[in-house]
Amino acid sequence: MLTFSEFAELCQIVEKISSTLEKTARIAVFIREIEDEDDLYNAVLFLQGRIYPEWSERDLGVGVGLIYEAMRIATGIDRKTIENLIREKGDFGLAAEELVKKKTQTLLFREELTVKKLREIFDEISSLEGGGSQKKKILLLSELYSLCSPIEARYLTRLILREMRLGIGEGIIRDAIGKAFGIESEIVERAYMITNDFGKVAVEAKNGGKQALLSLRITPHIPVKMMLAQVAESLEEATREIKELGVEWKFDGSRVQIHYADGRVTIYSRRLENVTNALPDIVSEIKRCVRENVILDGEVIAVKDGRPMPFQHVLRRFRRKHGVSRMVEEIPLKVYLYDILYDDGEVIDLPLKERRTRLISAIGESDAVKVAEQIVTSDVDVIQQEFDRAIQAGHEGLMLKNLESRYIPGKRGKNWLKLKATMETLDLVVVGGEWGEGKRSNLISSFELACLDEYGGLLRVGKVATGFTDEDLEELTELFKPEIEYQEGKRIVFNPKYVFEVAYQEIQKSPKYESGYALRFPRFVRLRDDKSVEEADTIERVARLYEVQFRSKGGS
Ligand code: ATP
Repeated sequence: MLTFSEFAELCQIVEKISSTLEKTARIAVFIREIEDEDDLYNAVLFLQGRIYPEWSERDLGVGVGLIYEAMRIATGIDRKTIENLIREKGDFGLAAEELVKKKTQTLLFREELTVKKLREIFDEISSLEGGGSQKKKILLLSELYSLCSPIEARYLTRLILREMRLGIGEGIIRDAIGKAFGIESEIVERAYMITNDFGKVAVEAKNGGKQALLSLRITPHIPVKMMLAQVAESLEEATREIKELGVEWKFDGSRVQIHYADGRVTIYSRRLENVTNALPDIVSEIKRCVRENVILDGEVIAVKDGRPMPFQHVLRRFRRKHGVSRMVEEIPLKVYLYDILYDDGEVIDLPLKERRTRLISAIGESDAVKVAEQIVTSDVDVIQQEFDRAIQAGHEGLMLKNLESRYIPGKRGKNWLKLKATMETLDLVVVGGEWGEGKRSNLISSFELACLDEYGGLLRVGKVATGFTDEDLEELTELFKPEIEYQEGKRIVFNPKYVFEVAYQEIQKSPKYESGYALRFPRFVRLRDDKSVEEADTIERVARLYEVQFRSKGGS
């Protein structure tokens, strides 16, 4: 049986290794040696800082506030001292380790915490709801802390906060599973794209090897990673490269994957979060207009008086947990469907042309449920006209799709090209902020932004304080309050959870931030609630955009 201290020991080793190959090898050896299926499942998820697969509706519902309380109760140390320690260490995990160190000196016997036991307690915490649930959660967490050694406390805390700081992204987990069970990475990757659960992939690989992974199929109500697009360099190049081009509008909305089977509709967002409960209007329209036993891909947009409303409104609908019915009236939604992944069985390997025929036959259109129009053409002038029409209608531009191509889950490839009018923006992680002055002193009115380094670490690139309406700031303050890790005067440090899309006038080289770059005149465009932190832009992209602008300024 795997103990949590064995797991924490591995984490401690992996955290210190900087080479990707070495990290992969270390993890591979560790997971190969795990005998029990449940232990393997849990360990693989925990290594990624996940307690449940990303698409699961289950969640611990534990924020920073509860952790403070649990630590206080478990260690008997007052909140002020704990806050100071966190500030000093700059990390909740290290602070928890220190606190437990102070405490264990008085403990003679400690029951060994196993990974299975931890899973049981997590499940119990996640199923608590209603009155008194917060108190019970704090109690369970404080019991957990009292079972932990200092090093276990470090990783337990990080696991609860979903930030392991091990520098292991999806690529490392994929390769480690491949290495552990002798399977090519591409096969492990495909299995992950259609199950979205590395825990399950590892267990299948252990039990049935390559064959078991190859025979995994898309299943209704389990989300599939979405196919993504590349930027079209030019129209000429797109028409030259792709023989049969399907041209569709790039709707300015939010991506959805809709599963309809067994009398049930489940809707997943671009991040594969289950957003079904927030979209009862779409659910009932799908049931009315769509043939059962399908998985559809499309875009939800908010429309008022025939025009798309800003994307932000769609996200407000997606986030809504209470008062959903009022929102249904305030922000009416439409869904434009453009692909089908499952039609009485997996159809992703059929060419887009054939999938489209199936899509059309599965849907009886209504006012709120539409199949996205598609024109088949390679004529640059026709595409240009269509582009102008899309922009005039308030959308982002066009998608140019290869009609011969398969649907490759999770792939950003040349078979889908996007053509947009606006200048390239950056999607950056919000890591900190500042309370406003005067009238805005109860609002967080500036936000500190970071891009990703190659290990998934965060490098700051600037602050954004413009582009917000008062209403935006009110909503964002509410959204960010539970993510406050600590404060120093007006300055706040957040648990990195949200991504902002920002425009800017220029990228400059600057020693001010650890990224080595700074944004000149950054402006908030929107909250990218549909993107996870791991999907934010990388330092590589920042550097590339810097180079491009430099070249164009140099006049060459
Ligand atoms: P962006 O910020 O440009 O939306 P992204 O990284 O979210 O980029 P991309 O894969 O680059 O996503 O662009 C494709 C996105 O465009 C899809 O995720 C989808 O949300 C949206 N979209 C709108 N209309 C279409 C369409 N007709 N076909 C495919 N995707 C579409």
